[in-house]
Amino acid sequence: MKKLISVLFAVMSAAMLMACGSSAKGSSLTVEDGVLTMATNAYFPPYEYYEGDTITGIDAEIAQAVADKLGLKLKIEDMEFDSIITAVSTGKADMGLAGMTVTEERKKNVNFSDTYATGVQVVIVKEDSDIASIDDLQGKKIGVQLSTTGDIYCTDDFGSENVEEYNKGNDAVMALVSGKVDAVVIDNEPAKSYVAANEGLKILETEYVTEDYAAALNKDNTELLEQINGALKELKDEGKLDEIISKYIKSE
Ligand code: GLN
Repeated sequence: MKKLISVLFAVMSAAMLMACGSSAKGSSLTVEDGVLTMATNAYFPPYEYYEGDTITGIDAEIAQAVADKLGLKLKIEDMEFDSIITAVSTGKADMGLAGMTVTEERKKNVNFSDTYATGVQVVIVKEDSDIASIDDLQGKKIGVQLSTTGDIYCTDDFGSENVEEYNKGNDAVMALVSGKVDAVVIDNEPAKSYVAANEGLKILETEYVTEDYAAALNKDNTELLEQINGALKELKDEGKLDEIISKYIKSE
């Protein structure tokens, strides 16, 4: 009898725990309202950028496809890149999707989904620049986007006194055009867009760092992490992920 009571008790407490688990999630995160809120910085073409008033691009389309699979509506919130991790870790956004690189430091505050794309940190210089390699950046003024991996690597490798941080990648590129900085370190795909949009710039052939992009998620919401990984895997298997990426990135 004693044994039966303790088994019953164990079953009851497990049921209570499960019930608490699901209601606690709803209190700080919005997914339960049927809306998947994505935090991004919409100045990162072709991953996210404005077309008129609408935010479009690879991440926006992947997020929409993931939301469709999970039966959720998608809401995109544009903010500084620097604010995305905080928005996710405080529950203001369910997911950060922003061409964001997986780093050990960021993993202290958020969980990352499986990776869905690869990024490369590259160097943009003026066409007539004497900078021809990564080593040539020594002692030069380097423009970066605040809190990005480009910022972190350049600060480590070349010293913060040589690094100018801008809120938007485009502002760093404008500083290069006007001669305020000698080079810009940024992810390869936005780099291509910026070079195409501005005369007299080129990308160095030597690549600086190769990295993985993934969605950032709240550490307490492992259920959403699993759901998003499941949706990403399905999109991969169906070829939908490749389709979205190749719509925006033409292979050379
Ligand atoms: N991949 C870079 C990073 O995660 C830049 C991302 C971005 O600017 N949106 O830091």
